[in-house]
Amino acid sequence: MVSSTKLIDGKAFAQGLRIRVAAAAAALKAEHGFQPGLAVVLVGEDPASQVYVRSKTRATEEAGFHGVEHKLPATVVQNELMALIDRLNADPAIHGILVQLPLPAGLDSAAVVAAIDPRKDVDGLHVENVGALWNGAAGLVPCTPLGCVLLLKDRLGDLTGLNAVVVGRSALVGKPIAALLLAENCTVTLAHSKTRDLPGVCRQADILVAAVGRPEMIRGDWVKPGATVIDVGINRVPAPDGKGRLVGDVAFDEALAVAAAITPVPGGVGPMTIACLMRNTLTAACRIKGVAVPAV
Ligand code: NDP
Repeated sequence: MVSSTKLIDGKAFAQGLRIRVAAAAAALKAEHGFQPGLAVVLVGEDPASQVYVRSKTRATEEAGFHGVEHKLPATVVQNELMALIDRLNADPAIHGILVQLPLPAGLDSAAVVAAIDPRKDVDGLHVENVGALWNGAAGLVPCTPLGCVLLLKDRLGDLTGLNAVVVGRSALVGKPIAALLLAENCTVTLAHSKTRDLPGVCRQADILVAAVGRPEMIRGDWVKPGATVIDVGINRVPAPDGKGRLVGDVAFDEALAVAAAITPVPGGVGPMTIACLMRNTLTAACRIKGVAVPAV
């Protein structure tokens, strides 16, 4: 039997963060008379995207934010989408704009992201925010990576000097996590599909972050005893009930046996994404309004 204190409970941490964000939003309204505003843009009918957007809208309401949802058909043309972004950029009640990705085929998502006012880019994907992250300047940081680092700091405190290995180098997850860990003074290795001796590289890690998208690829004997493991992967695999079940990129039971701490899937990193979206919207609203960003 393995101690449950090894589990990093992202669900509970995210819930606490959302409560703190809601309290900060209520204080802003009382003291400064404004509400953070988030616009979520959904194009097309992708079922997974619809679920994400519903959760984001619910979280926006619970945080006491002003929220608007824009649903556009998959047949929308690029110019119409760009015109909506322009309107949202100009809307003083909106401080955060999130375009649910991926966009349907035929739409240029890079152009859409580039059109978002960087101050309202709560997904942290605009090149200005990417540059700010790597330069250590104040910008907006992608939500899932921010969530991973908040969980790590909550569990480990100061991360200075720790060896961190991030497996996966996507612009959305792996690279920003590496930048954030570097900013926390970790010694960072960014591994990917061409990395030689990946198990050996992973075994060097005090902090091992898996963001690959391959079910249970990282085995227990890749994990250094006493390491802290953050599993970003969300993979649906077949299960006897026919609906499938969610697993991460890490073979959980094997890793749990050797790690000091590990995030489960589900209930680890996943819930942090929306909580950090709320945190980013609060941050964006305060900066745009010229009000000190509350610590949450
Ligand atoms: P991508 O497909 O964009 O990137 C995957 C990365 O993994 C690439 O850098 C790729 O390397 C690397 N990779 C693939 N195969 C291997 C391998 N055999 N060995 C080593 N590296 C490999 O995925 P994302 O970054 O968008 O997502 C990663 C995972 O995180 C997915 O499971 C996704 O569902 C999940 N996710 C979870 C979120 C959450 O809220 N919890 C949010 C976002 C994503 P290369 O660059 O060389 O091709």
